[in-house]
Amino acid sequence: MPRVEQVPRVHKVLVSRCLLGHRVRYDGGVQPAEDILARWAAEGRVVPVCPEVEGGLPTPRPRAEIPGGQGADVLDGSARVRTRDGDDVTAPYLEGARLCLDLAARHGIRIAVMKARSPSCGNHETYDGTFTATRVTGEGVAAAALRRAGVRVFNEDELDAAQAALAELDTTSDHT
Ligand code: SF4
Repeated sequence: MPRVEQVPRVHKVLVSRCLLGHRVRYDGGVQPAEDILARWAAEGRVVPVCPEVEGGLPTPRPRAEIPGGQGADVLDGSARVRTRDGDDVTAPYLEGARLCLDLAARHGIRIAVMKARSPSCGNHETYDGTFTATRVTGEGVAAAALRRAGVRVFNEDELDAAQAALAELDTTSDHT
């Protein structure tokens, strides 16, 4: 009988595509990938996602914010995502959040690193809907959906904390 190699499986991490050098931001810009993300990619841990593009929006696209609410309110139907011109882009944001949940379920993901302050990906802050760069406490739509599903969401300034959470996961639970 041929010997079957036991390849250890690793916990995967959902990562905003714009943090991985993909040109998916609303303005077509890119964020530099950090060393930790590059290492996770080499380890086969990274599951990239851009909720807005994969939810159906083009690049570039108009900026959008959530006037009078946060991502969780959008999920609950009590707030909408709108562009500066007032166009309602809630549907692709919800679709992007749904796709994030699908990926998390498919890959057994418990940790995500998402772009700070995005109306989709922000985990602690977003903008207040006035398009004046005014930050408010809250989450984007996809980040809120992931949190509700039990995924710990970090941002690009919290990579050390995300790495620590991942290491804890690797040592305390079965690999998925
Ligand atoms: Fe896409 Fe999220 Fe990055 Fe925006 S912040 S470009 S939705 S991955």
